[in-house]
Amino acid sequence: MTIITPLTNICNQHCIYCSSHNRKENSREEIIKSIIAEDNHLIFSGGETTLAKNLFKYLSKAKKKDLFIELQTNGVTSSYFSFAKKLVSSKIDLFNVSFPSFNSETYQKITKTFYYDKCVKGIKNIIGLKGNVRITNVINNLNYKELPDLVRFVKKEFSGLNLLELNFVKGVGLAKNNKEVIPKHKEISKYLVEALRFCLNQEINVIVDHIPLCYLKGFEDLSVDFQKIVNNKDKTFLDEKIKIKKCKDCDIKNFCTGIRKDYYELYKEEVNPVSTIFNIDDISENISKEKDLLKKRFDFFIKYDIPFQLINYPLCIFRSYKKYVKKTKDFKKPNSCNECRYLKECAGIPKKYFEKNGSSEFIAINEKAFLTNREKCILSILNYKNDLTTKEIFSLTSKFNICADCSSSDNSIIVARKLEKKNKLSKKLTKKGYVWSLKK
Ligand code: SF4
Ligand code: SF4
Repeated sequence: MTIITPLTNICNQHCIYCSSHNRKENSREEIIKSIIAEDNHLIFSGGETTLAKNLFKYLSKAKKKDLFIELQTNGVTSSYFSFAKKLVSSKIDLFNVSFPSFNSETYQKITKTFYYDKCVKGIKNIIGLKGNVRITNVINNLNYKELPDLVRFVKKEFSGLNLLELNFVKGVGLAKNNKEVIPKHKEISKYLVEALRFCLNQEINVIVDHIPLCYLKGFEDLSVDFQKIVNNKDKTFLDEKIKIKKCKDCDIKNFCTGIRKDYYELYKEEVNPVSTIFNIDDISENISKEKDLLKKRFDFFIKYDIPFQLINYPLCIFRSYKKYVKKTKDFKKPNSCNECRYLKECAGIPKKYFEKNGSSEFIAINEKAFLTNREKCILSILNYKNDLTTKEIFSLTSKFNICADCSSSDNSIIVARKLEKKNKLSKKLTKKGYVWSLKK
């Protein structure tokens, strides 16, 4: 069980969404009581916890009880290295540091201070001292468009960070009923999904809180509430959430806690029930661009036993999901489809999609579609460095321990030619000989 103990109301910032505004400050007795309670996760919150009188006494008392201690802080005081060192030495298990924006101007507008540099330095100090840091970014009207840039900044500047938490602003404290602070889910969704996509590709450990699953398409598993549901954890958080009438039509409702009550009071109806029937006609953009996210989503449904169906999805791109594909009509099939083993089972390519994007994404499935280890090896080399001569490819084969089979550049040229036939590579004759490139 987790217990949250506010140590102080005093703060050196004045965030526009402060949830502890006018909150009653705990007395010394109440704080001690929370430390000796039979809970194992103690969260010291504020105001700014590092400004609390007796902070270090409370920390040492909690440590003697062997509790998991989480300290919420805005990181400003940790810009003083000696202070950050003292904090880290107190064996705090988790520093939950608020980072409202990577952009100093937005930071200033949100916190009404000029402490941006101090906050960044504070976070770097704690991470540098090997403190376990989770950065919390509260998504609000002033910063949601910056989410993709925020995660790029986090990747670049905070290497060693344990976790990034993107929390939708709660409608409490200063944010209560405040449309200037609280954005609509549908407005932030696009930026959030872009940011999460970056995190996935860059291996940034990230979670999301207080956003219903219908606005997390492809990233449902990153929702804190979802994780609590599937791990059967503490359900007290459910009191803050509500499912509305429309949620009845949602195919993933059993995995969602709904929307925050304070959000519903402010904006009334705003959910987007999820259908797990996917029709190829709904994809207007490039399938190749979307396929990784779609596949991630389908894997999520499979993992959690959520029924889904893919209407007329082409099997060449989604063949691992073949048993979920239903063919209801026949679309256009370019000549290349004639060589495909799925020619009869597959619906082909919708006419409109074909006219807009052509058919280069649809590669007939036959023995040519499968890659040997030698071929995979050459593709990995060209992914590492594109536009190489045959000799250069051969010189890199030992670096990629995939087949370790090529004994001379003659082998490399044979394999590269096969890949050219499979439409994976192109070649250009230069003074240095053939230069091989990956096909876009
Ligand atoms: S429609 Fe309702 S149940 Fe479905 S994801 Fe949205 S909030 Fe959750
Ligand atoms: S190559 Fe053509 S027939 Fe084969 S799976 Fe793709 S779209 Fe369908």
